[in-house]
Amino acid sequence: MKKKEVSISYLEYGNISELPAAEKDLVEEAVAAASGAYAPYSHFMVGAALLLDDGTVIRGANVENAAFPSGSCAEKTALSYMVANYGTRRVMAIAIAAMTEDRMTEEPVPPCGNCRQMLVEEEQRSDSHIKVILAGSSAVYVLESSQALMPLSFTGSNLRK
Ligand SMILES: [Zn+2]
Repeated sequence: MKKKEVSISYLEYGNISELPAAEKDLVEEAVAAASGAYAPYSHFMVGAALLLDDGTVIRGANVENAAFPSGSCAEKTALSYMVANYGTRRVMAIAIAAMTEDRMTEEPVPPCGNCRQMLVEEEQRSDSHIKVILAGSSAVYVLESSQALMPLSFTGSNLRK
């Protein structure tokens, strides 16, 4: 028997203004994307912004439904749109921000497990790392790869062994 450990590292910034310009711009896109959310039940409006390798930015927002499981997360919305419409491009980074009422959450809001799974798959599909920027008004976390959010993840290779 062997004991193994998995650890992740990430950068923590005190606020959005400390970010490098490109990352700050992407966070602002995510904040703007949140305004497109349809969240009449939770009033928790999430925005995601994908930066593609050609500079295109794709926004996604959460879309709720009275039949709750029918809703979709902001990250999933953005990734699905990207794959369907820009499938030959690569995602370089994703920024995620959430609003309650008219205010950004203080703490960064991490993606749910389903969205982490989608991010890992997209990294593998494009054979590249997707930088993850999780933005809150009092802290911003930056991870160099979405794989860090999902260690020991289930992937397509598991289907073949
Ligand atoms: Zn999600």
